[in-house]
Parts: sequence; structure tokens; C-alpha cells
Amino acid sequence: MTTAVQARTVGFRPGERNVFFHILTTCNLRCRHCYINPIEHGTCTLPLETVTKWLALFSRPDAEDEQITNLILLGGEPTMHPDLAEIIRAAKGMGFSVTVDSNGYLFHDLLHKVSPQELDYLSFSLDGPEAAVNDPIRGPGSFEVCTANIRRAVAAGFNTSLIYTVSALNIKHLARMPALVQELGVQRFFIQVIGLRGKSAKDTVAPGQSWQVRPEEWFSVVPQVAADAAHRGIHVTYPKVYLNREDSFECAGLVAENYFIFPNGRVYQCPLCEDYPIHSYTIENDQLVHRQGLNEGRFFPLHIPEGCIMNRLLQPDNISYAEDGSPLHRISCCLLKEEVLPVKD
Ligand code: SF4
Ligand code: SF4
Repeated sequence: MTTAVQARTVGFRPGERNVFFHILTTCNLRCRHCYINPIEHGTCTLPLETVTKWLALFSRPDAEDEQITNLILLGGEPTMHPDLAEIIRAAKGMGFSVTVDSNGYLFHDLLHKVSPQELDYLSFSLDGPEAAVNDPIRGPGSFEVCTANIRRAVAAGFNTSLIYTVSALNIKHLARMPALVQELGVQRFFIQVIGLRGKSAKDTVAPGQSWQVRPEEWFSVVPQVAADAAHRGIHVTYPKVYLNREDSFECAGLVAENYFIFPNGRVYQCPLCEDYPIHSYTIENDQLVHRQGLNEGRFFPLHIPEGCIMNRLLQPDNISYAEDGSPLHRISCCLLKEEVLPVKD
């Protein structure tokens, strides 16, 4: 495997807005690491009319060219929403760049309800290069269904991406993913890191064993896999996680525009906060209302040697300390990405 390509940190871009819209929380799967938390996020399926009104709160009809607004439609499983195709068309009409993040089941015949021109990216989640790795995490039969539907989507001309959530359960299988992504014809590969939210915050991989990946494992595996994928012509993105000495720390909550919307009207700016009622905004009567009092925004300006304050508070297992008590690595904002562009060999 080659490592001759350089990852580039994708800094937070002024003017860019990312809207992660959970249009329902229902799902046909029961993934072991699912971060959806119905008590905190609600259980309703938002009607088309409500989705359209809420989308309008985040659209920018008068945006300049450089002001991209990315919309990621999520669930639960978003293709279980009976009106997803209409939602995609409504969002395109408002100027969003639209991605659908699916577990691969593609309910309601989505590939025939929208055209490749109407959807910017169709993203699939897969957590192993074979059923023996993926299915114990995501559910029996899910590997076969997901890969079959990826092939159908690629054949129909959709832009596709694949998300692999790295955890202690599957990091040793990540190296086999680039060959599969290439063989499936998928253009973009997102390596995600497990966040301790929802189910994975409560359960362990095995008694006494955390879901989280140790820094040395991350460094020895992820950059090399990304380089391999790039040499296969695939665009790769993965979280920065550990800052180098020369990197400056930035909290997206202060310098970027990210909104994580849930069916109960909660709107967060930081995904790590989603298990707690400390959201920045609520949508009330179809209006976006900033919440006063203790909300996540109070944490964003706090400077600590470990980098991200919410990581330190909620999932500190990924921080190691030197003998003098100083952290060996600062943890970046979970939204900061490294990008490796496809290499033409
Ligand atoms: S597919 Fe997504 S929403 Fe459904 S159980 Fe898995 S992680 Fe949760
Ligand atoms: S993950 Fe950390 S750095 Fe990023 S928005 Fe949340 S609190 Fe800020």
C-alpha cells in the first residue's frame, strides 16, 4: 500500500452552510452504534409541508456564488419518508446542494422517483468490507442489500458516496474497503469515527471495552487506507481528530455554520451535544428561535489544553496524557476534515 499522497485539512470555509436535517427518526435497522436518541430527538415523521417550511428557514435565496448551502437529508432512514422525492425537489428549488444519507435499503423506489440530476449525492452507510464484518454491526442481510442497491444507483447514473464508521469493532477491516469502493464504482469515500452518542454512549463493544479507537491505531491505519483509496481514483474524506503541534484549534460552533435539525424542533450546532437538551435553537411555529440560558453555545468559547471542550467532557477516552499531565495530542473539532484527492497514476 502506498502513502505518497498528502492529506489536506479542509478548514472551515466562510460562507459555507451545512444543514443536517433528520426528517424522521424511524429506521428499519438497529445498528449497534446508532446515535439516534428518540427521547431527545422525537419520534415523528415530519410532514412534507413542515419540512418545506423548515427548509426555508435555512435556505439563502440571495446567496453569492461562494455561499454554498449543503443539505444532508437523514433519519432514521430518510428513504422511509413517503415524500422524500418531493422534499429533494423542493430543496433543489431553494438552491440547496442535496445529499441523502441512506442505510442502503432505498425504500419507496427512490431510484425511480428522482433523477440523478435532481440529487447531488446519494450516500450509503456500510461498516465492513464483507457481511461477516458489517452485519454484526448493522444487522443481518444489510451488507447484501446495501451493496446491491449501490450497484443499482451507480448503474442508473447517480453520484454516490460511502460512509464507513470506524470503531474498535471494525478498524482492522478498513484496509479492505478501498478495493470494494472501487469495485462498486463509488466516487467518494467518507471514513467517519465513532462518536459516543445514543447507543454507543451507553453500551460497550464488549464488557469493559470501549468503542473508541486508540490514537496509535488511528494513525497507523486511516491515512494509509485513504492513500490507497486515492490511488484507486476515489475522493476520500476523514476526520482530523488529532491536531499537529502547528495546527490551530477552531470550534465550528464559533467559526462555521452547521445546523443539526431534529423532528422535535431541536437545532444543534455541535453534534457531540445531541444527547443533551442544550441545543442552540428550537423551531417553534415554523420559526427559528435562539434559546436563552444554558445551551451548547456557552461551551464553545472555553479554551482547554485538550482542544475540543465537548470531547473532553463527553468522550475523553481518546485523550492521552504525558507524565507531567499535559495532553499528548489536542483533539480537533469533530467537524474538521482531512481530504485526499484522487491520484491519477
Ligand atoms: S441506519 Fe442509521 S438510523 Fe438506522 S439504526 Fe443504523 S445508524 Fe441508526
Ligand atoms: S465538536 Fe467541539 S470544537 Fe466542534 S463544535 Fe462541538 S464543541 Fe466545538
